[in-house]
Amino acid sequence: MPQRRVRALILRTFEFSENSQVAHILTLDEGRVHGLAKGARRLNGAFHGGLDALALGELGLYTRRPGAGLRTLASFRVSTNFPGLRRRLPRFHAAEHARALVLGFAREEEAAPRLFELTVSLLRMLEVAEDDAAPALGLGFEAMLLALSGFAPGLTCCVRCERPARNVHTTRLSALRGGLLCRGCRGEDPGAPEISGRAVAALVALGGGPLVQAVRMAPDHELLGELAAALDSWTSAVLDRRLATRATMMHVGTAAR
Ligand SMILES: [Zn+2]
Repeated sequence: MPQRRVRALILRTFEFSENSQVAHILTLDEGRVHGLAKGARRLNGAFHGGLDALALGELGLYTRRPGAGLRTLASFRVSTNFPGLRRRLPRFHAAEHARALVLGFAREEEAAPRLFELTVSLLRMLEVAEDDAAPALGLGFEAMLLALSGFAPGLTCCVRCERPARNVHTTRLSALRGGLLCRGCRGEDPGAPEISGRAVAALVALGGGPLVQAVRMAPDHELLGELAAALDSWTSAVLDRRLATRATMMHVGTAAR
């Protein structure tokens, strides 16, 4: 069977039958791949003892057979498992939130090189991040991922009447309507959470990147709390489920201060 090698980040693994694993993997040029690593747990095998979440390396991947559900994985060679993430809890929990987001948003076998590079950049920054910068980076990553995936909220004007969102004091962020609702249109979604003008401006800035902007916002705990609440409501509506990783990331980030 023809085989190719791709840069890959392991997202999630399950033990499967004797010695084997099933893995969800983010690849540079094939997006998310779901595959079987036969004999992965053999120490002297092509997977060097097994696949672990958040390991980055080179994946050997067989060409898809028509009609096959799972891809067959040939080998994996780790270049790094980001050891710095495991030295501080806030870093680890921010990485876990990013991992949950990528699992939620990356599409199967649809190239997403910018998402791949963004995820690797985040993990490298988190490896050396200060405790209060870690949750800020997690939220910045989320805003950029939403923008890259085409799921970012409309933040430049009211999504109903198109009045520009300038000098906004407080408005509503409606997942139901797809973005901001002005004072006159807020009745369109009375359950939508309120958001301050400065949190809207921060979300716009974070969504456009680069990630390092999030580090500069890290000392502003009030702003971070508001961004976390806004993204929680938004992303939960997009994915139709709540990511528990965000609350853990924010809690651990706060406890570490
Ligand atoms: Zn309006």
